[in-house]
Amino acid sequence: MSLLSTNSLLAATLADIAEVAGYLWEKGWAERNGGNISVNVTDLLAGNEPALGTTSLPCCFPSLAGNAFFVTGTGKRMRDVARRPMENGAIIRVTPAGDAYETIADRLVAPTSELPSHLAMHDHARDRGVKVVCHTHPTSLVALTHRREFLLPGVLGHLLWSMIPETRIIVPRGVGIVPYALPGSRALAEATSRELASHDVVLWENHGCLAVGQDIIEAFDMIDTLDKSAAIYLTARAAGFEPEGLDDEQLDGLAATFNLPPLVGDS
Ligand code: 13P
Ligand code: ZN
Repeated sequence: MSLLSTNSLLAATLADIAEVAGYLWEKGWAERNGGNISVNVTDLLAGNEPALGTTSLPCCFPSLAGNAFFVTGTGKRMRDVARRPMENGAIIRVTPAGDAYETIADRLVAPTSELPSHLAMHDHARDRGVKVVCHTHPTSLVALTHRREFLLPGVLGHLLWSMIPETRIIVPRGVGIVPYALPGSRALAEATSRELASHDVVLWENHGCLAVGQDIIEAFDMIDTLDKSAAIYLTARAAGFEPEGLDDEQLDGLAATFNLPPLVGDS
């Protein structure tokens, strides 16, 4: 019997995941198996669910011992996660030593290849209430990472903030940049957790982005808002002009009104 049939809180969380998986597909950000989602569901479970199998992890996460996560499966399509999340993902629990995970529901679906990045984020960002990690391939944002000068500290984050006021408000800690690294690699995971210490969303050069949040809807909203800014920039450029953007005084006005963190060097 599925855990979902007896746990309405878990069922509600899975419904939110399915909703966002559908958005990622509809937005065109989730070609084939592109993107992955993980959600910390420890508080929604009893903690004594029997293991269907145990798999070792490529790196050790002792502080995540006993934590359970819903994770999308490697090679699975977001459009299928949207329709049948528990057939295209699994619930895993990190073992007491932190060097392996047990699959506890519903079946032995292998987690995303980006599991090292996801667990590293859950590990580093837990103290700020992060429960969700979402990786996807937003078209306009990825396009902007193909331009070298945008990857210099602070440049792309500032440009995205300056396209519409909402971006400054909804993504207050801005974007970090991770230079290209092999998908699924430890190098990618480590660089991502360094950037997430001071940002809400991290852009992976020529690949995609990763957002963390307290819930999946919030993580999606940040990516959606950033991609809207990127699309406005590209639309203006395609129309033949460089958009002026909000100036620093206007951005400071937003920060003061909405009590946002100040503009910092590499946001
Ligand atoms: P998975 O199918 O392993 O989740 O990989 C998709 C992806 O986007 C890798 O970066
Ligand atoms: Zn990817």
